[in-house]
Amino acid sequence: MSEPANIDWENLGFRYMKTDFRYISKWKDGDWDEGRLVEDNQICISEASSVFHYGQGCFEGLKAYRTQSGTIQLFRVDQNAKRMQESCRRGIIPPVPVGKFIDACLRVVKANKTYVPPYGTGGTLYLRPFVIGVGDLIGVSPAPEYIFSVFCTPVGAYFKGGLTPVNFTVSGYDRAAPFGTGAAKMGGNYAASLMPHELAKRRGFADCVYLDPATHTKIEEVGAANFFGITRDGRFVTPCSPSILPSVTRKSLLEVARGYLGIAAEERDVFIDRLDELSEAGACGTAAVITPIGGIEYRGRLHVFFSETEVGPVTRKLYDTLTGIQFGDIEAPEGWIFKVE
Ligand SMILES: *Cc1c(COP(=O)(O)O)cnc(C)c1O
Repeated sequence: MSEPANIDWENLGFRYMKTDFRYISKWKDGDWDEGRLVEDNQICISEASSVFHYGQGCFEGLKAYRTQSGTIQLFRVDQNAKRMQESCRRGIIPPVPVGKFIDACLRVVKANKTYVPPYGTGGTLYLRPFVIGVGDLIGVSPAPEYIFSVFCTPVGAYFKGGLTPVNFTVSGYDRAAPFGTGAAKMGGNYAASLMPHELAKRRGFADCVYLDPATHTKIEEVGAANFFGITRDGRFVTPCSPSILPSVTRKSLLEVARGYLGIAAEERDVFIDRLDELSEAGACGTAAVITPIGGIEYRGRLHVFFSETEVGPVTRKLYDTLTGIQFGDIEAPEGWIFKVE
């Protein structure tokens, strides 16, 4: 395999780039096949596939990191494997065994290792595992066959400008229903979020904040990321709700806050009319790790947390510590790092 030519590692952005290999495995008659690496990035499936019409599919997102010594590692891939099993169960999709998921991710990274950006560029190799319902089907019911695949693409920072705060506006729309599929990484949630996102962007905001769908009083998600805040007395708080997608980044930040920064961390409601209790706020997810929130617009008024131009000190420490762990500069808690080679 040759070195990929002309990749501008410093200016990657968050865009799709075809890499050399992807993993693909098929489920039929009750079993997943062996799975293999293929070069073709096109999938040919029945026009009657359930993923097209009924949204029967789910996905994951995680990254491979190049360390200072040049090795490559995955961050908490077991958590993504388990979460995809939960998404599968919600969608009546045969769950991909955890071992198979992890093995697929490791194989894809190894086969595309020349695409893992160099240490120090801030770039990573983003992995996108997904499962889709395929096969001939016309009624609304689970598909007769499934495809599990993992592809990867090198990425830079998700939000341009790195750790610069951005503003969000509260959406009147919901991304999920109270007992719907919000906690599953299923396509329909993201289809529902495209218009609110577009409306927020047109008005100059980075994205929108979703409130809890039952009462519209509590913060749930920030675009396709989880929300966290730092209270005036220095505690890390993040909402907890059955319609939030349980973020691996958020889960990790809870542990980083407690174990590395020595600050109290709790999952609890964050009311949209009580933002005054927070001195800093951010959005967290694999793609951006942390996006500092400058302000949130609600009912025509912009509430600014720390600053619209500067990142707050606790947010900065959380970001530096977690990215330090992911890139191998800071010792990770037991079980967080999966060495690729
Ligand atoms: C994927 C996702 C997140 C972030 O989860 P991570 O595991 O941290 O990447 C948050 N919210 C939504 C809606 C998501 O789809």
